[in-house]
Amino acid sequence: MTSRPLALAGAAVVALTLATLPLLANAYIVSFVFALLVAFVIAQSWDWVNGLMGYLNLGHYAFYGIGGYTFCMLLVAGAPLPICFAGTVVSVAIAAALLSAPIFRLKGDYFAFATLTIVPLCELLASNLSGLTGGSEGITLPPNYVLNPAYYLMLILTLATFVTTLALMRSRFGYAMRAVRNDEQVAQVSGVRLFPIKIATLMLSGVFAGLAGAIQAWQFSFIDPYTMFNMGVALIPIAAALLGGSGLLLGPLVGVALLTSLQQVLLIKLNMLQGTIYGLVIVLIGRFIPGGLLRWRTIANSAALGWLSRESHFEVPALRGGARSDALPLRADPIDASRKILECRDVTMAFGGNIAVRKASLEIRQGEIVGLVGPNGSGKTTLFNLISGVLHPKSGTILVDGKDISQFRPDEIAGLGIGRTYQIPRPFGELTVRECIAVGRTFGRARAPLKQSMLEAETFARFVGLDDCLEKRADQLSLQQKKVLEIARALAGEPKLLLVDEVASGLSTVEIAKFVEHIREIRDRYGVTVIWVEHIFSALASVVDRLIVLDSGSVIADAPLAEAMHDENVLATYLGHANPEVP
Ligand code: ADP
Ligand code: MG
Repeated sequence: MTSRPLALAGAAVVALTLATLPLLANAYIVSFVFALLVAFVIAQSWDWVNGLMGYLNLGHYAFYGIGGYTFCMLLVAGAPLPICFAGTVVSVAIAAALLSAPIFRLKGDYFAFATLTIVPLCELLASNLSGLTGGSEGITLPPNYVLNPAYYLMLILTLATFVTTLALMRSRFGYAMRAVRNDEQVAQVSGVRLFPIKIATLMLSGVFAGLAGAIQAWQFSFIDPYTMFNMGVALIPIAAALLGGSGLLLGPLVGVALLTSLQQVLLIKLNMLQGTIYGLVIVLIGRFIPGGLLRWRTIANSAALGWLSRESHFEVPALRGGARSDALPLRADPIDASRKILECRDVTMAFGGNIAVRKASLEIRQGEIVGLVGPNGSGKTTLFNLISGVLHPKSGTILVDGKDISQFRPDEIAGLGIGRTYQIPRPFGELTVRECIAVGRTFGRARAPLKQSMLEAETFARFVGLDDCLEKRADQLSLQQKKVLEIARALAGEPKLLLVDEVASGLSTVEIAKFVEHIREIRDRYGVTVIWVEHIFSALASVVDRLIVLDSGSVIADAPLAEAMHDENVLATYLGHANPEVP
């Protein structure tokens, strides 16, 4: 029996129990489940930002408080319930949007630390803006017994949270989030525009937490700064998501169920030690089961519980129409050799006092395959970073099809049809090979719909010889496989200019020859122009039309292959550098 019907049956039983709970159980149990649902919505909505997008937001609980406050202020002002909830959504969304601008300028630890200040700041505001918030006195709602209606609203919100998580994991938007989490820069050069993704994710997560705060405040019928912005409570949903397994569909749910139950026991027996015990649980999990309980091998590999740990990956539809073709699904650009596809004019880049690229000028015409060579540290990769928008030149201009792109973002440049690979492969490690290639395809110049990209990814994988590992996580590939995955991902975006950064080292002679044929084929069949940085000269020799030589950031030669190989400057550069492969 497959697990799907079983899971559906299980879900139906749980749903039915939850839906009839107020009829079956006493108020204590209903309150307990209510608290559990609130914690789940907070933990899961937090995990969209962390588990999917990779940003550790320690201020998430503030949205809960802002939601609660907005709701209560509207309710005591006499607004009808639907308006109170709508107002909550609007105010939390605005708060999240306003917060995005400063906090997403930060990354990693700095981001986490900055967000740690949000909850205390809100507490301070709520205490001091007493005209609006009632200050430390708080707001008391008219006395009404609303446990059951609040419970049902919370149940609907829980369901919406769960469905949203599922939808995010399967959507194009969700893949952008996951690409950002895995490697922000590679996501960008693959065509993902970062800021809209980040702001929308934070707003979405804020709205769900805010609604949870509103429903909770309604049920409490009293709020004050301490209950709504309590730092001691703010981190518990986060601890729960980490305990269960951040980024997994059921991770936050399992974590919340365990921690909330533990809390009930502790509340009765060991109230004073609660914080210490949570801390201990997290330390133990971090030490012994990093990634959370559901990633624990004993659970992940067990026949009975393994389904809890399943990662969400694209599932290939069982029935699919159309014949499989080996031809890459790329538009063929007719080659116009007079068209200047790329031009660099006096481009300079420096890191502090170290000038990595010095007044470099070059032109690339459509349909060329150009080798870019030079000793280690001569600025080849930096030049690629400048062309792909990862870095901006200190001076000089870079033109693509005559348009100055020197200050463009990497995703804009990707959209113009510039694809690149990385010398040290940077796949989206938590995604499968199929998903990595599809991200390149759906966000690059191709802009193919997600599902189509997932299916077409197969052709690109076959092209580079990865068709056996389509459903394998990219971080489990060998180095060679990761290298060719770089090519497949970049190619899938339908670049008109492909920047290839050192592939041959580590490949066998046969693999190199195959790779050279691939480069030739994508130029001949699809009109893709290629700049290839390579140390292993023999790889270039049989395929490039022209050689550009860099030394200490300057272009010291730019000539057809045969000519460049007899250039004295070039020979001196290479003879000065122990590279036995260069003639
Ligand atoms: P190549 O790819 O030709 O080996 P690079 O472009 O990687 O050379 O490096 C050129 C010079 O710029 C080197 O001196 C390198 O140390 C320096 N460099 C490259 N990237 C950075 C960076 N992000 N920060 C500081 N220095 C850098
Ligand atoms: Mg390099």
